[in-house]
Amino acid sequence: MGHIVVVGGGLAAARLCEQLRAKGHEGELTVLCAESCPPYDRPPLTKGALTEERDTTLRTDFSSLRTDLRLGVPATSLDPDRDVVHTTEGEVPFDALVIATGASPIRLPGPGPQFTVRTAEDAARLRARLVPGTHLLLAGASWINAEVATSALKAGCRVTCVEPGPAPLALALGEEVGHRITQWWSEVDLRLGTGVTEVTATGARLTDGTHVDADVVVTGIGVRPETGWLAGSGIEVDRGVVVDEHLRTNRERVYAIGDVAARWSPRWNTRLRVEHWDDARSAPETVAAVILGDGGPLPVHDPVPYFWSDQFGRKIQYVGHHGPADSVEIRDGDEPKWSAAWHTPDGRLTAHLSVTQPKLMIKARAEIESAITAA
Ligand code: FAD
Repeated sequence: MGHIVVVGGGLAAARLCEQLRAKGHEGELTVLCAESCPPYDRPPLTKGALTEERDTTLRTDFSSLRTDLRLGVPATSLDPDRDVVHTTEGEVPFDALVIATGASPIRLPGPGPQFTVRTAEDAARLRARLVPGTHLLLAGASWINAEVATSALKAGCRVTCVEPGPAPLALALGEEVGHRITQWWSEVDLRLGTGVTEVTATGARLTDGTHVDADVVVTGIGVRPETGWLAGSGIEVDRGVVVDEHLRTNRERVYAIGDVAARWSPRWNTRLRVEHWDDARSAPETVAAVILGDGGPLPVHDPVPYFWSDQFGRKIQYVGHHGPADSVEIRDGDEPKWSAAWHTPDGRLTAHLSVTQPKLMIKARAEIESAITAA
């Protein structure tokens, strides 16, 4: 393989460079990264990095990997017929292209200032505002905002959170688990069943017509895959770059990994867009083997999804993927240790949530791996 170009400079891009060289790629390797700093880890940004300065730069040594890491050089469009990526600094030709542009936070309407946390710069700006007495308004009782709330309370801030759903994380985990989680928010002025309609200069206006005054508004309502630069390229996009189980797009020699990819999962018989660290970490190994393939059977990327979150003094670990037909059973244990399990109507474990019980997660992952396999 000649020149491999990677667009994006996050975990997936960095791991891919390591994997390509480890698997014997001798040709040129270029990374086009919109951000002006080398790839870093994002999970700490809403955890320790909100209360103290932390360098989360990944240890990938791009010079020993003979990689041309171009920082501050975003891809602006793709011409797959000429095998060329357009950037703010001219054209870059490729023999194989890997899309790893991640995702960007969704923002709320309104003229007022609002914080989101995706980059190290976002985290540093928010950290500067987390001082005793600051009143924070969180839009969305999401995974991200639960971690922001935890850090803000630790910093001595007053926290209000508005959430349109009936409980925190109800959309992701269902109402029953959400209600169980609600008690963790006891130090937060949590207002359920109402959302933000617009961010104003002094806070936010809510769907019930009231206004909440706040010093800082943090929006944590989800992300959108970074696919805008692919417009007109012919690459299929449907809530993410559409790829098969080998991480191939609809164009030859163009692949996608990490948060931006909407991958076909034979295991779950559906398309998944897994916005988790573990997937961005593991997909590069498969895609590197696919790109450098020796003509044998193509490797498949279809792990059981896994993520964690640290919130309100608890470690939450979710493994699997549950659907609307699955039933949930809360397995009792006293706070802060309990778990929930989802089963298919025919009794197979599809997903498991453990609260401060890492051993249970490992066991559940193995059980799901053998219970849910490709048809
Ligand atoms: P990203 O890390 O988003 O990297 C994409 C990179 O591509 C960025 O640098 C971006 O600037 C760049 N880019 C975008 N467009 C272009 C372009 N046109 N040209 C060039 N470059 C471009 N997951 C967990 O499992 N557990 C957690 O606890 C957890 N906590 C998180 C906390 C925060 C605050 C955030 C933001 C994420 C968290 N995640 C967590 C998710 C995890 O960090 C992501 O799944 C992972 O970062 C995805 O890696 P990626 O390389 O696909 O994308």
